[in-house]
Amino acid sequence: MRVYNFAAGPSTLPLDVLKEAQAELLDYQGTGMSIIEMSHRGKPFMAVNQEANELLRELMGIPENYSVLFVQGGASQQFAAVPLNLAVNKKADYILTGNFAQKAYEEGLKYGDMAVCASSKEAGYTYITDMKNIKVRDGVDYVHFTYNNTIYGSRFTELPNTDATLVTDMSSCILSEKVDVSKFGLIYAGAQKNIAPAGVTIVIVRKDLLGKQSDICPTMLNYAIQDKNDSLYNTPPCFPIYMALLVFRHLKKLGGVEVMQKINEEKAKLLYDFIDNSSFYKNKVAVKDRSLMNVPFVSPSEELDAKFVAEATKNGLVSLKGHRVTGGMRASIYNAMPIEGVKALIDFMKKFEMENK
Ligand SMILES: *Cc1c(COP(=O)(O)O)cnc(C)c1O
Repeated sequence: MRVYNFAAGPSTLPLDVLKEAQAELLDYQGTGMSIIEMSHRGKPFMAVNQEANELLRELMGIPENYSVLFVQGGASQQFAAVPLNLAVNKKADYILTGNFAQKAYEEGLKYGDMAVCASSKEAGYTYITDMKNIKVRDGVDYVHFTYNNTIYGSRFTELPNTDATLVTDMSSCILSEKVDVSKFGLIYAGAQKNIAPAGVTIVIVRKDLLGKQSDICPTMLNYAIQDKNDSLYNTPPCFPIYMALLVFRHLKKLGGVEVMQKINEEKAKLLYDFIDNSSFYKNKVAVKDRSLMNVPFVSPSEELDAKFVAEATKNGLVSLKGHRVTGGMRASIYNAMPIEGVKALIDFMKKFEMENK
């Protein structure tokens, strides 16, 4: 009995993919062992690693002059890896639109003269600051921002208006909507929201930015070394990479990112329209900046929020409790959440409202 799982991450995966992984777990393509029991330098895993890389390139339309790396340490490790590799002049600007953006900035401060060039912190991160008139300092190595704010439920729909190199954290929105990779110097994303189980982190980096790392950059965080070794410098997270491959194949079969984006827009619209038309539930994010992936909302009181989460769980709608910094509820409706799950949530919300008004 599968539930509708609205967890923010690790999060729900496509059922077909789980079944496929299950079916070939004991005997991967006639090898007599699973993909997680064999050498990462053997033919079967090398093929998985390569196909995953190529499929991600195809799905995102990643240009030739970019490297795609599969690394470890989560998105949080990239908060340090980015300045260690890219902050040649030890100077970068950060846009604060949420918790993870703040964490990236604080980590960056350890490696140079980092500054905040825009922030919506005073407003409780309920909107994305104006990107047209953003003031970036001269001579920065990059501008960092979080494309989709997982906790607060907002997303960028416009890029910072600057010539500086753009670095973005797409952990909670990668492959959910079309992006023009060529506009960025670097994109990173932990896999456990929209791609695979926790354990692998995707780094997409323009090749001219490689090889300029700081002297103190740990070998494992050195993008140039990871690139030279096709992400196999040491033992890679084999299982998450294999699962990512299955998810990429699944996404391609569905029609790719464009088709996925349409479905995601439809799912998000259903839920936001319902919330906006209700006097019981509320979403505090500026309408134009609302996330397609993470939808936070509150009921009229904290007591009702707790009751909502408990009753939803009993009805097979799980992990709807909001993040501890925001409270309330949050429905994460990543690629793998079917529209039926969103409809089931809305039906439950209607019923709960009637019973508790
Ligand atoms: C989840 C998340 C992170 C943290 O990811 P880890 O892989 O746990 O380090 C960072 N940034 C964003 C936007 C996230 O959603």
